[in-house]
Amino acid sequence: MAKFELFRLPYDPESLRPVISGETLSFHHAKHLQTYVNNLNAAIEGTPFADMTLEEIVVKSEAGMRNNAGQVLNHNLYFGQFRQPTSDNRPAGALLAAIEKSFGTFDNFQQTFAQQGTTLFGSGWVWLSQNAQGELLITQENNAANPIQKGLRPLLTFDVWEHAYYLDYQNRRADHLAALWQIIDWDVVAGRMV
Ligand code: MN
Repeated sequence: MAKFELFRLPYDPESLRPVISGETLSFHHAKHLQTYVNNLNAAIEGTPFADMTLEEIVVKSEAGMRNNAGQVLNHNLYFGQFRQPTSDNRPAGALLAAIEKSFGTFDNFQQTFAQQGTTLFGSGWVWLSQNAQGELLITQENNAANPIQKGLRPLLTFDVWEHAYYLDYQNRRADHLAALWQIIDWDVVAGRMV
């Protein structure tokens, strides 16, 4: 029996239009993520990793197993942070205060985060994370890497692999990233803070 299961979307795949089409979301979730889940389950079967949490596998495994575990964790966080589009979608409370403390203003944070996503060469992820001191920081991670490998707590991520946007935006990665702000569920992001 499979240990890890496909992340269950907390919204209708069509509900993120026009930021992400239902076609892109369904391929990304039901094809790309399902493949990473299947590969991970096959890789851990009969090994000591079969008894570990997903986060432990990401930190402790290597090579192909680590790539697949990383992509499962990254996509679970990615798909879990969205909601239907809203204009002037902004964080509030402790999360907004932490963003303003680290980046000056929310607008400056958005600009820096999107710029880090646009300039990441090749495939990867841009992340907002919290460090051990509770401060927020932005990192670029290549391929399947996750900030937990650096001892950070991941809060928010943009997937910059082409499969995340190519059907809808072709080569216009910056346009895709700029649109993603409309569908971020800031309550989910705030809930990942400690
Ligand atoms: Mn992806």
